Amino acid sequence: DYLSSRQGPEPTRLVVLAGPTAVGKGTVSSFIRENHPDVLLSVSATTRKPRPGEVNGVHYYFVSDDEFDSMIENNELLEWAVVHNSYRYGTPRPPIDAALAEGKRVLLEIDLQGARSVRTVMPEALLVFLLPPTWEELVRRLIGRGTEEAAEQSRRLETAKVELAAQDEFDVKVVNTEVSQAAQEVVELMDAPAGATTSD
Ligand code: 5GP
Repeated sequence: DYLSSRQGPEPTRLVVLAGPTAVGKGTVSSFIRENHPDVLLSVSATTRKPRPGEVNGVHYYFVSDDEFDSMIENNELLEWAVVHNSYRYGTPRPPIDAALAEGKRVLLEIDLQGARSVRTVMPEALLVFLLPPTWEELVRRLIGRGTEEAAEQSRRLETAKVELAAQDEFDVKVVNTEVSQAAQEVVELMDAPAGATTSD
């Protein structure tokens, strides 16, 4: 099966971090960006507009629809998806290939559709699912960050239910109770020999 095909002495190095909206993927990723500068945190391209405090080239590459179209046409994206029925998000491939060729560790923070695509094109990737401590806590985090309108919040909660149902497709689950703890677990997974995280 998939997990036994990953057995081997080489570290995993490429980790995909997914999980439902507002679970704290962004916070965990930011923590890793600040505390583990040796890990390449992939910067996605997106057609959505920046939120206050978001920096082009750091949090995302904010691009127009036309620019996104040409990235697809030029085969520059490892995967891309329409997320929350609205904007397009995609993972630029060249920086990832370059980092892996140099032996660096790479982290992708993408949605469920993206995680499934990466599994297909890069089967050696380790797929990590970030879980909230409870459903109530997830709802609290989504409303608490106050970045979305009420209609968008309920749309995202619907998506979250669907995404939570897919958690068993992932290799590892990490519960995000405390950010530094969850981040540490993710970083340690990148150092683990492939196969070391399986239970068999
Ligand atoms: P947000 O708009 O809140 O920054 O992100 C919305 C969703 O898009 C999150 O679930 C995030 O993981 C996902 N996302 C961000 N970048 C990518 C990407 O490159 N590809 C895919 N498939 N999803 C992404």
